[in-house]
Amino acid sequence: MSISWNQKKRCLDLLAEEQNFTKKLWGQSLKICLAYPNDYHTGMSNLGFQTIYSLINSHPKCLCERVFYPESEYLSTKNAFTLVSIESQHALAEFDILAFSLSFENDYPRILEMLALSKIPLKATERGNGYPLVAAGGIAVTLNPEPLADFFDLFLIGEGEAILPGFLDLMTSAPMRKKEEFLREIQKNIAGAYVPSLYLVTTNEDGRIVSHDPLKADYPTKIVRQWVHDINVFTTEQQIITKNTELGNMYLIEVSRGCGRGCRFCAAGFACRPVRFRNFEMLKPSLLTAINQNKAVGLVGTAVSDHPELVSICRFVMDRGGRIALGSLRMDRLSFEMASILKESGIETATFGPEAASQTLRDVIHKGINDEDIFSVVDKLMKFDIDKMKLYFMVGLPTETAEDIEAIVSLVKKIQHRARSISKGKGFRMLTLSINQFIPKAATPFQWHPLESTAVVKKRIKNIKEGLRTEKYVRVNHDLPKWNYLQALLALGDRKVGKLLLAAHRLNNNWAQAFREMNINADFYVYRRKDIDEILPWDFIDHGVSKTFLINEYLRSEKIR
Ligand code: SF4
Repeated sequence: MSISWNQKKRCLDLLAEEQNFTKKLWGQSLKICLAYPNDYHTGMSNLGFQTIYSLINSHPKCLCERVFYPESEYLSTKNAFTLVSIESQHALAEFDILAFSLSFENDYPRILEMLALSKIPLKATERGNGYPLVAAGGIAVTLNPEPLADFFDLFLIGEGEAILPGFLDLMTSAPMRKKEEFLREIQKNIAGAYVPSLYLVTTNEDGRIVSHDPLKADYPTKIVRQWVHDINVFTTEQQIITKNTELGNMYLIEVSRGCGRGCRFCAAGFACRPVRFRNFEMLKPSLLTAINQNKAVGLVGTAVSDHPELVSICRFVMDRGGRIALGSLRMDRLSFEMASILKESGIETATFGPEAASQTLRDVIHKGINDEDIFSVVDKLMKFDIDKMKLYFMVGLPTETAEDIEAIVSLVKKIQHRARSISKGKGFRMLTLSINQFIPKAATPFQWHPLESTAVVKKRIKNIKEGLRTEKYVRVNHDLPKWNYLQALLALGDRKVGKLLLAAHRLNNNWAQAFREMNINADFYVYRRKDIDEILPWDFIDHGVSKTFLINEYLRSEKIR
């Protein structure tokens, strides 16, 4: 096991191009390595990851460093290689805690690779006191940590700002004792902590869960997702600035959390409630920092276009010579003023997510927009001469029919027709469709719904492409349906799915072989419509919305057609 000079140089080169990273003395009482299971270029644009980094470092007794999934050149020499932290190039096994930030299920296989590259045993039961405590947080495990239960000592369910201070205080309050002792204490005292080894899950013969019980009466039966009631008491903005990342031209500032719209497919719309906005006054110092950095101000949040002071925020930035970067906007929230802001700030492509084209399907998913909203957006964009638009659609939605797919083709043609008719024949110079498969997620009203088959999804994407083939200025992008099966499995699975993950790791990510060897019916999790009254793997988490509410929402969606 060695730390190569190349690897060390790579860390030093990255640090040399960063501003504001923190490097504390190695002697701190609690040393945490924050891990992102994707490469540096991707991970450094994750505002949540950066927020946790600075939150831990702000604790006087803690040190936090970072590690990312390594570039392919290192993977080719993996036997002679160990992963090290960026800041001090210490091996991961030398830290007290290895904490993964997990936003996407498709990153899970890389967790096992990172543990293996760090020479840390993959399974929690095989890690004695000499190894770091391996923890995880983030939206993916907040929704459903169970497929990862075998590999993690601990999950933190909910928002970091709400859980970490108490957790770090407890961890630094006494010298590191036996790991089991610490874990028991954490489970008893830290709201939102979940130590999977302290809970027993039983299933019946057909694989359905019968119970998920704590091993002792003093551990909570329900793990309550933690969230911050007032996000105006702190700021969430970019900490480390580097050009070596996806959004390197932006300075990211969080303006809202949660969303109250309740689109039935959307985890953020249910499991991150309630909606909270940062007020404009509170945001001003962050906005000024962004302008001084000469970066576009990237406004981050699940409901950015619902922010009641969005126009004032954007005007504040632009009046001071700054630029605004916005993600996808709701189509019923584009006012003339906002369209004018998009134009003035030089945003070339306006992005929206109608998700479905027929009104019936939009009602099924509770999208809350109609054709009038869509055409009103087209009118405004044309008026301000914004001639590129990107639209997100989903395929494989509950109750979807071939007519709903035809409706996508027809709507796009109508959009272009409308745009031409009010712009002297010019229309959109580029209309990009991004087609993604609907993947059921835990803690949403569609959590009981099966994934649509890959064959059907492929056919539907093909139909959309064919239907729009003659549209010169329309481009159709789509994801690869075969990876969606895996994402659904990791999102909806229970502890048995962890055994598949382990087998796939052993077999060099050959999932087909892993499915054959493990004799676990993966379709049971992915393609089965779950019963409303069955216990789901994540039911032990109180996400903040009652199961009765989710059931009613699901049943309401089914009555629409
Ligand atoms: S899709 Fe957008 S608007 Fe709908 S609930 Fe999710 S974040 Fe809110």
